[in-house]
Amino acid sequence: MQEQQPATTNGDPAQEAPPRRRQLLIREVNEQIRRIGDRRDGDGFLVVLCECGSPECTDRLTIRTEAYEAVRSAPARFIVKEGHSSMGDHVVGSRDGYVMIQKSGAGARSAAEHDPRR
Ligand SMILES: [Zn+2]
Repeated sequence: MQEQQPATTNGDPAQEAPPRRRQLLIREVNEQIRRIGDRRDGDGFLVVLCECGSPECTDRLTIRTEAYEAVRSAPARFIVKEGHSSMGDHVVGSRDGYVMIQKSGAGARSAAEHDPRR
């Protein structure tokens, strides 16, 4: 199955397909939550948004800060609520109601291209 996506979007998330675009934007929001958590010197947990990218999904999940950091260290990885992974997502780990997924193909490329930690 071949995805019809341009090879590059010049780093602009607005050029991505809508579910992927949403996923990338939610990741940006979670990075802000992470930064706020840092300043508050919290309890070691973050409440972040599910990164599945579905337009209907407004779920939140609680994740340990170090687990969040582990996901963010790989640009093609995302955190989604259990049962929210899509076809083609490779599940790399799961814990307490959330799963870590790894994108492949065009999804992995655009995720790396828009890596907020780059
Ligand atoms: Zn979701």
